[in-house]
Amino acid sequence: MKQRHLVIAFIVALAAAWSLLQPFTITLLCYIGLYALVAVGLVMLTGVGGMTSFGQAAFVGLGAYATAWICTSPTAAEWLGFLPKGVYPWIGLVLGLLVTALIAWALGAVTLRLSGHYLPLGTIAWGLSLYYIFGNLQTLGGFTGITDIPPLTLFGFSMESPRVLGVLIWALLLLAIWALHNLLHSREGRAIRALKSGRLMAESMGVDTARHRIKLFVLAALLAAVSGWLYAHMQRFVNPTPFNLNIGIEYLFMAVVGGAGYLWGAVLGATLITLLKEELQDALPKLLGASGNFEVIVFGLLMLLVLQRAADGLWPVLAGWMRRFIQAEPAHKLVAGGGAVQLDQRQLPPAGQEILKADKVTKRFAGLVANNEVDMTVKAGEIHALIGPNGAGKSTFFNMISGVDDPTDGSVSLMGKPMRGHPSREFAALGLGRTFQHVRLLGERSVLDNVALGAHRRGHRGWVASMLRLDRAEEAAVLAEAMRQIERCGLGAVADTAAASLPLGQQRIVEIARALAGQPAILLLDEPAAGLRHLEKQSLAALLRQLREEGLAILVVEHDMEFVMNLADRITVLEFGTVIAHGTPAEVQADARVIAAYLGGDMA
Ligand code: ADP
Ligand code: MG
Repeated sequence: MKQRHLVIAFIVALAAAWSLLQPFTITLLCYIGLYALVAVGLVMLTGVGGMTSFGQAAFVGLGAYATAWICTSPTAAEWLGFLPKGVYPWIGLVLGLLVTALIAWALGAVTLRLSGHYLPLGTIAWGLSLYYIFGNLQTLGGFTGITDIPPLTLFGFSMESPRVLGVLIWALLLLAIWALHNLLHSREGRAIRALKSGRLMAESMGVDTARHRIKLFVLAALLAAVSGWLYAHMQRFVNPTPFNLNIGIEYLFMAVVGGAGYLWGAVLGATLITLLKEELQDALPKLLGASGNFEVIVFGLLMLLVLQRAADGLWPVLAGWMRRFIQAEPAHKLVAGGGAVQLDQRQLPPAGQEILKADKVTKRFAGLVANNEVDMTVKAGEIHALIGPNGAGKSTFFNMISGVDDPTDGSVSLMGKPMRGHPSREFAALGLGRTFQHVRLLGERSVLDNVALGAHRRGHRGWVASMLRLDRAEEAAVLAEAMRQIERCGLGAVADTAAASLPLGQQRIVEIARALAGQPAILLLDEPAAGLRHLEKQSLAALLRQLREEGLAILVVEHDMEFVMNLADRITVLEFGTVIAHGTPAEVQADARVIAAYLGGDMA
């Protein structure tokens, strides 16, 4: 059985039971659907994207108030007088989405720059302010709210009854889950998954992470606004209370309890919290002999318990149990049909052409000069090695020439273009591929998925196309290209394996495959042979030689001298940030300063 079959079974069961359920159960299901619509946005934003928001309730409010205003205000009636009344709610929806997108984009542009705990604090701030704005605007009825909101109608058909409106709610929820699932399993989805823990890495693969963060933020806000729109037409009445910070925390709670990284976790979380709230609101006042919102305290304790016991929420526990019945799609099936679309191809420059030039690159960290006027040129079709003792400044130099950091002084040019001040994704765009000394992979994702991120820039399908599965041919081509590089690097047997479960040496090779998937003109490798066994080093050397034959420029930092001396065409030696020697392996090995730097020890 596939996961798809399970989802279909769930939908069929829900549909079959729908007309038989008690009105009370239907109302409860409507609320669960509304909450899940918000929570699923939070799963994307917080669980997948790593941005915590306590303020989603405010976006629900925007969606609700927009339609409430359109449907009841005399001003709106004046403007829209020529239209039938039944159209107003739909105009309310459009207005709600527009206003929400605009406000979310503006808020995101300000708050998403905040790092660490400041982002959640920022969301609390705007969650509170939007609540008070709703309460203090007289056109929105102040804290009393707006009454007499009409029910939804579609082609003259009234959706007043929860049993009818519920169908729309759940249809929209399932549609959202379908679209988000598609998005997560696409080229853009790989970039989104990297936002949480791999931003620096993703930028080096050519991903504009700031842009993806804003888009994700707006997407989550839009889902909340749709929920608010439905809510307003279900309640037929809005006031600021359901959009306050408390409820914002509850939404986050649903996403976290359900399973912050899993779309269906939102449905699970919304169900559990809604049912629990029902029970607690009855039971707690009786138990405690006083009335009040005591359930908030119970929720808080419960959240602590879940985070202690099942940090990823409850969905993975359930999914682990279901996995016994579900088959995953193997990589080779995803790759099938990869020939239909051509990915972007790069014309490699002729051998001998200068690809990268560092001119007097200097980097100071406070008092420390990590790079001191380092000159280097790397040409197409050559392997250039950068060696030096620990702390000599090799990794710092890599960061200078790959756009991760800017030199304090001096200049770097790539393909003849001056690159000072350009972000690393523009280096990637010009053909620079790199690996990291401290491996940066998405550990829980498969090797195939990790390598495919390297080909990000070679595809073009965006978020909407991915959601609607219009990207399938391109996605197959991206995966096929990733698979080619995986096989070429000798990792074919582990393509479906989670990257973190490989030995560290192999993870380094995965990083090389990822860099190759971007079809680079120059490859920067920071200690690629560390952790490899002898035979693995030999096959790595063979691969690098083959890449050199194909015309790549390769710059490698490596401690294994035997590996370097047998492989490199030219070597630059760094000590205390300064170049102390430069030349062929034979020249460098004979250099007195180099021998002194290495104490004559391991230069053999
Ligand atoms: P290598 O890769 O050759 O071992 P690095 O480039 O990592 O050396 O480090 C060179 C020197 O710069 C070291 O003394 C290191 O402590 C220092 N250094 C590196 N990065 C930073 C940083 N972000 N802030 C302060 N000092 C740094
Ligand atoms: Mg280093």
